[in-house]
Amino acid sequence: MVIKPKIRGFICTNAHPVGCAENVKRQIEYVKRQPAVNDAPKRVLVIGSSTGYGLATRIVAAFGGGAKTLGVCFEKEPSERKTGTAGWYNTAAFHQQAGEAGLYAKTINGDAFSDELKTEVIEAIKADLGEVDLVIYSLASPKRKDPESGDVFSSTLKPVGQSYTTKTYDTDKDKVHEISLEPATDDEINNTVKVMGGEDWERWIKALHDAGVLAKGAKTTAYTYIGKKLTWPIYGHATIGKAKEDLDRAADALRTQYTDVQLEAYVSSLKALVTQASSAIPVMPLYISLMYGVMKEEGTHEGCIEQTYRLLSEGLYAANPSLDDAHRLRMDGHETNDQTQAKIETLWHQVNQDNFHQLADYEGYHQDFLHLFGFGFDNVDYEQDVDPLVNW
Ligand code: NAD
Repeated sequence: MVIKPKIRGFICTNAHPVGCAENVKRQIEYVKRQPAVNDAPKRVLVIGSSTGYGLATRIVAAFGGGAKTLGVCFEKEPSERKTGTAGWYNTAAFHQQAGEAGLYAKTINGDAFSDELKTEVIEAIKADLGEVDLVIYSLASPKRKDPESGDVFSSTLKPVGQSYTTKTYDTDKDKVHEISLEPATDDEINNTVKVMGGEDWERWIKALHDAGVLAKGAKTTAYTYIGKKLTWPIYGHATIGKAKEDLDRAADALRTQYTDVQLEAYVSSLKALVTQASSAIPVMPLYISLMYGVMKEEGTHEGCIEQTYRLLSEGLYAANPSLDDAHRLRMDGHETNDQTQAKIETLWHQVNQDNFHQLADYEGYHQDFLHLFGFGFDNVDYEQDVDPLVNW
């Protein structure tokens, strides 16, 4: 089949297997060009391993530290007529490359929120790895089925306390326009915390600990975005921000609960980037396009792979990592520092429909968006017939 991007709103509904493999290969090549990560973990579990920050972390652990990696993701497999999701093809490409490098890789595709999947992962750890030294929690999901009650909770992207009117960029219509977002109800806030907060991370760690598969001195981290003034009303201080605050609570609880294995638990704050999760958040495409332009000019722009390489080498496995006052690892400083934010803010106030393409790096944003699904690579022939049935 010849595969061309099918973009619907903020999502692309298909993916290109060869392009996804290229995306993975480029990240692996980046890591191989860096010095190996010192004291790197050797057995790593990545929950949310197939795209975005989780995939990048898996690549750093494997190719920058020589780790055996066990991944968990929720992806659709391809059929004769329909492509698989990008995460499916990314995982297949990762397995292929890891195999060629002699690195153990196993991926379990299913609902990470369920108890059944946790049991399956523990069985795989016992059979293949014995224990794990690092657990990455990198899920981004719009809903979660509570394994105890069976209730399904949905997350919402809304401000908290008061309505908020701001600019946004509609990627579908190529339009900068105003949007007004109504404040979330208490239920919407609580449900978002239920989906994206720390509860499931804690359940994972408890299950791993109780099964005796958390190595002594193991580390775990969950990912957050803190951002600054421009994004606070829709992110940091909004429903998703409340869920992220709950990660801080969970990290504290994990640190005090699992002293028998000297577990180190951190929330890691990463920069805003184009991923499947972030393109769904109102305001973010506009903010990210402006921010990309500013950071590229400053020479500080990074993607998922650069961020997660630094997270392991300068954060999680550094001798004296710097932590903020909430005990978080901060990899977002190049974005959130006052000078960079001031430049983005100036552009934010100026940007409108007429000057958007001059002021913002939408080209960079759009290219990253296409790359997420394996499109837009200059060395991939998109006219070629390709077999969508790729497996791992
Ligand atoms: P993403 O959409 O690229 O990746 C999400 C991953 O979760 C995928 O591997 C997907 O398969 C998996 N997943 C989703 N639901 C699942 C389920 N029920 N069971 C198993 N796997 C499931 O997202 P991302 O942007 O890489 O986000 C990962 C984390 O990083 C999130 O916590 C996010 O808030 C955080 N973060 C993102 C940004 C950003 O700008 N993208 C910035 C800072 C922090």
